Order: sequence, then C-alpha cells, then structure tokens
Amino acid sequence: MASPMSAGDFLSALKREGLRVVQVGDWRHHNRNHKGPWGPVHGVMIHHTVTSGTAQTVEICRDGYESLPGPLCHGVIAKDGTVHLVGYGRANHAGLGDDDVLRAVIAERVLPADNEANTDGNRHFYGFECENLGDGEDPWPEAQLEAIERASAAICRHHGWNQRSVIGHLEWQPGKVDPRGFTMDAMRARIRERLA
Ligand SMILES: [Zn+2]
Repeated sequence: MASPMSAGDFLSALKREGLRVVQVGDWRHHNRNHKGPWGPVHGVMIHHTVTSGTAQTVEICRDGYESLPGPLCHGVIAKDGTVHLVGYGRANHAGLGDDDVLRAVIAERVLPADNEANTDGNRHFYGFECENLGDGEDPWPEAQLEAIERASAAICRHHGWNQRSVIGHLEWQPGKVDPRGFTMDAMRARIRERLA
C-alpha cells in the first residue's frame, strides 16, 4: 500500500535517476482526479503511443481525444530519451485490467495471464507512453530504452519496489499489444540491474 508521491518528488526522482525532463504546461495539476481515485499506487505501466514525431506525440498525450480526454499518461518518453511530463494524478492510460495481475504486482510475483478486465488501473499505476508506431518495425533507440529503464527504476526506488512492479499494458488488459518491439522481461531485467 503506497500513497502516490507528490508531483515535486516525482520530478526529483526522475532527475536523480539521470533523466532529461521537460515540464509541459501545468502538468502538476493536469489530471482526471475529478473522475475517480488516484492511489494507492502499486506499480508502473509502460505503453507505446502509435504516433510519430515528438511534438505531436506529447500534445496528444497531454490533451487526449474527445472520446479519451488527457492526460493519457504522466510522462511521455521520446525517442531521444527525454521525458515530457504532461500530467500528474489520475490519468487515462491503463483502463480496466485483471485483478489477478494487480495482486501479482502487489506481491511482486510472476504475472498470471491477463484474461479479465475488471479492475481500475488508472487508480493504481504510474504510466509512461513511449513514442513508437507500435508496428513491430519502428525502432526503439537505446536512449529511449534506457530512459524507460531509468524512469521505472526511479519510481521503484522511491517506493521500495523491485522490477516486478513494472508491467506493460499488454500484461494488464486483454487485447492490448503495447509495448511492442522489446519484451517486458528484458526491460525488467535491466531495471533489476539498475536497482541492484
Ligand atoms: Zn497502452
């Protein structure tokens, strides 16, 4: 059971982990807290955006769509590894996922298959959207992978979590494929090494 860190602590944790951070608008107060709870937090969720071009990607993740209002995450991780903070608090990134997966994340156990969409993920996960077309061909530059590793580790370090607290959207919600182009097991191995 963990309370979400403050926006200021979030920013500091990312910087302390060596990340280049851009603060977009009034990100600290841009959220969906009027639509539901935020916290307790249990983990970090990684996504791909299905967009190209950092400026456009950041704008979409901040503003969202008519059918899915922003913020669509907390941080956008660009191809060059820069983290653009677009929101803080409840964000529209995780949707409904599997309660068995949430229990495994809380216990930091091996994940079961996600086969139910019965649990509010926006309440319980920090979210990073990563700039990628998600077609399995668009490359993931090392700078971007390293930033995903560092951002995830920064949050785990703050809360005393291990790498098992970091999952992909595809491990949470049936039908989701993101992130595509690297495996979450490989990313968790990197995060484990960084936290060691
Ligand atoms: Zn996603």
